[in-house]
Amino acid sequence: MLVPRPICLELSFAAIRHNLDQVIQRLERIGAQRACARPRVWGVIKANAYGHGLESAVTALARADGLAMLDLDEAVRAREAGWAGPLLLLEGFFQSSDIAILEAYELSVVIHCAEQLTILERSGVGPGFPAWVKLNAGMNRLGFLPADFARAWGRAQTLRRLGRLSALGKMTHFSRADDDADVTAAQRQCFLDVTRDLPGPVSLCNSAATLADVWASADILEPQWVRPGICLYGGSPFADRTADSFGLLPAQTLRSRLIAVHALPAGAPIGYGHQFVTPAPMRVGIVACGYADGYPRHAPTGTPVTVDGVATRLLGRVSMDMLAVDLDAVPQAVPGTPVVLWGQGGPSADAVAQAAGTISYALMCAVAPRVPRQAI
Ligand SMILES: *Cc1c(COP(=O)(O)O)cnc(C)c1O
Repeated sequence: MLVPRPICLELSFAAIRHNLDQVIQRLERIGAQRACARPRVWGVIKANAYGHGLESAVTALARADGLAMLDLDEAVRAREAGWAGPLLLLEGFFQSSDIAILEAYELSVVIHCAEQLTILERSGVGPGFPAWVKLNAGMNRLGFLPADFARAWGRAQTLRRLGRLSALGKMTHFSRADDDADVTAAQRQCFLDVTRDLPGPVSLCNSAATLADVWASADILEPQWVRPGICLYGGSPFADRTADSFGLLPAQTLRSRLIAVHALPAGAPIGYGHQFVTPAPMRVGIVACGYADGYPRHAPTGTPVTVDGVATRLLGRVSMDMLAVDLDAVPQAVPGTPVVLWGQGGPSADAVAQAAGTISYALMCAVAPRVPRQAI
């Protein structure tokens, strides 16, 4: 029996369940304050549930009203894992051969471009499936421009009458819900102006807009759905607010151990490129974790890391399989001492991401397949 390198990604499905509960409680609380019904929740599980493993996330998100993802394959896997409720493909379908699968697995789709409508108009009569017509309210990624929306909606209505679609909803996606309330309010107003007279459920909010309570207003009369993703996994969508402040728990913890400890004199360079040079005699530890494990290579000296429960920092450049840490505050550290790169008992993925100039989403999705997963 081979013993693996001492690195592992610990996955807590209890944390995902807890985070969904926190979101639902917030929706109930804010809804009650503002006399709005609690919106239904699409739990977003794209990208293998943000790196946490699709099948387990499906189980952990049992309280969600629906699940949303991108890949047809992920939708089929969620259905086969036993999810009986709505499943939404956030980019819809890509070719006519997808349609039979949508019908067989009872999937809902986003319709964001005229080509998708054309494919449906040319396809044969089937049992149909629900669709959400998407407005481009200013992100300019997917969706119909405001001037084109009514025509797209009309074509979708016709498809509904013909039985090609079984239900219609309206949606958009905010581009700055994490950092600009004015832009979000303008995009939201654009959505309301364009869709007000078109009946159907509404879906607007990602994690940032959900936690900023953008959904909670009496001017939306239709049943509403929110679409939280990152917050279910314990990441904050905001640069200036921690996940902890919303009562969220990290669902993934990247753990490793020291594999070497050095007592170095002043003036000793550390790692490739000699990016860090010890200013004084220093104890330095080498951790079994590198960019081939998914740790960000561009994380600089000073990026937080926890060694034996003590908050300390990364030193020098991250190598493919290893990185160096400052042990001055951890005199007891020896080879084998536990290290938390991010998650429970260590810095948050958000803090590591911020130091590395990225976001926790990118860290969570990128932990390499070679890192063993351990469910707790
Ligand atoms: C990814 C995604 C979400 C979830 O975004 P988070 O920021 O992770 O909450 C919601 N809606 C759409 C359309 C998405 O693509």
